[in-house]
Amino acid sequence: MTKDTSSKILKKLVELEKEEGSLPLLLKFYRELLEIQSKAQKRIGIPDPGLNSEAISQRIRKRLPLVGFDELVLDWVLVRGVFTEVMAAFARYPQLFGEIPERLRKPGTSRLLTKKAAKAWFTGKELPPTTLDGISESLRQTVIQATLQPFLASYAQALIGSVEQEHWRQGYCPICGGSPDIAYLEKEVGARWLMCSRCDSEWLFQRLECPYCGTKDQKALAFFTDEKELYRLHVCKQCKCYLKAIDLRKAKTEILLPLERLYTIDLDSQAKEHGYSPCQKPAVKRK
Ligand SMILES: [Zn+2]
Ligand SMILES: [Zn+2]
Repeated sequence: MTKDTSSKILKKLVELEKEEGSLPLLLKFYRELLEIQSKAQKRIGIPDPGLNSEAISQRIRKRLPLVGFDELVLDWVLVRGVFTEVMAAFARYPQLFGEIPERLRKPGTSRLLTKKAAKAWFTGKELPPTTLDGISESLRQTVIQATLQPFLASYAQALIGSVEQEHWRQGYCPICGGSPDIAYLEKEVGARWLMCSRCDSEWLFQRLECPYCGTKDQKALAFFTDEKELYRLHVCKQCKCYLKAIDLRKAKTEILLPLERLYTIDLDSQAKEHGYSPCQKPAVKRK
């Protein structure tokens, strides 16, 4: 996420809090998390990805994401510092995430996020059983994702401008290989852009194709919309995955996509009620 987007979101949350008196719990938590992540991103700065424009172009044309785990230069002191802060933020909201065992919150706990665990998460493999044991599998994944987000987002910022969008058009992120978790239809011609659940990169994708299983069978693809037609829920009957989307042609105010992930949690419940899943695990083999 750019510095601009995170400061706009933080500002919007402050305004909302003033208007409403207090923020809903989920937004309160998100504000704390975003503060941790944007502070970290500021410290990370813009990394040098070590790829010239020719190498970038070649990888994009070969459908290979630009950053593999072994290419990420991570400052592990900083990673562990962010992890400790992120863990503490999750622990402050047991109503949302359940109780987090004391031993996962003690100083020094940060060693529980090992390089091996981070790599397993990044490549969509099973986490080592000892990593953050005592909390649910989805929370383990979420905590690691929240910790690595500022690092991946800084690579996204360094590289996304060099991606030739027309040559990518895959169901996974051109920067980190992650899956999309939200989409938008752009204002001009309504082209569909996907946003990466891990690094917030945005990329152009077909409107009539499932990004998760790749089906183009029109009988398998459907979408539901609300009265104002601002929000859409794209579903795929073939792989049973769903994707939330916002139609910017119908938006009257500025849309901040990362915040929309939370504004649209009702859509998630609706999709799940109908038997669809978010499907954010890497579905294809990546570097
Ligand atoms: Zn990504
Ligand atoms: Zn599908």
